[in-house]
Amino acid sequence: MITENLKEVEQKIQQACDRSGRDRSEVTLIAVSKTKPVAYLQEAYDQGIRDFGENKVQELTGKIEQMPENIKWHMIGHLQRNKVKYIAGKTALIHSVDSYRLAEEINIQAKKRGIVIPVLIEVNVAGEESKFGVSLEDAKALVDDVASLDGITVKGLMTIAPYVKDPEENRPLFKALKDLSVDIAAENKDNVTMDILSMGMTNDYQVAIEEGSTMVRVGTGIFGERNYNKD
Ligand SMILES: *Cc1c(COP(=O)(O)O)cnc(C)c1O
Repeated sequence: MITENLKEVEQKIQQACDRSGRDRSEVTLIAVSKTKPVAYLQEAYDQGIRDFGENKVQELTGKIEQMPENIKWHMIGHLQRNKVKYIAGKTALIHSVDSYRLAEEINIQAKKRGIVIPVLIEVNVAGEESKFGVSLEDAKALVDDVASLDGITVKGLMTIAPYVKDPEENRPLFKALKDLSVDIAAENKDNVTMDILSMGMTNDYQVAIEEGSTMVRVGTGIFGERNYNKD
C-alpha cells in the first residue's frame, strides 16, 4: 500500500511542478510518519524516502534509534521548551518555532553541543485560534529576534493550513506566506535565508507547490489514515 501511495504522491508532485513551471528538485517530500510503526517507515525508506516528519519528541527519538542513520528527521509538531534537549542535534530541521522563548532554549541547547540548529518560523496564516504559530503581522519581528541567536539559523517559514473541503480555499494563504518569505528575503538579514517554505499536507500539497512550497509534509496520503484510539 505504501509503495503504491508513494507512486501516486510522486506523480501528483510532478504534475503540480509541471503546472507551475517548477523543477521537481525544488520540492522535498517529507513523509509524515507520526503514529505509524517503523515497519511502515522502512517500506517508505526502501522506496527512496529520506525525509521523515514527526510531531512528538518521544516518538521521534525512538524512531531515530530504530531507523537508518542517513535519514533527515523533521520536527513538525509543537515543541515544549523542556523537551528541546532531547532532539537538539538530532533533527535536520525544526519547523515549529513560534516564540522567542522557545528559540532561546534551542539556542542554549545548540551552544552546549557546539552546533547551529536550523529552524523554520511557524506562521499561523489563517489566524486560527486552535493552532500554534506567530501571526503574519508578527512574523518578521520574530524572524529578526530568532536570527539574533547564533546557535540558530533561520531557513524559512512553515504553516499548517486549515482543513478545507476544497484545497483551492487555501491558495491565498499559501500565496500570503510565499509573499512574506520573498519580502523577508529581500531584506538580506544576517543569519536568515528564506530557502525553505514548508507548506502543504495530504489535502492541499498540490496547491501549495503551485504557490511555491519547497517542502510538503504528507502523512495520510502515504501511510493511510491515522488511528489515535489504537494502542
Ligand atoms: C500530521 C501532520 C502533517 C500530515 O498531515 P496529513 O494530512 O496526514 O498529510 C503535516 N504537517 C503537520 C505539522 C502535521 O502535524
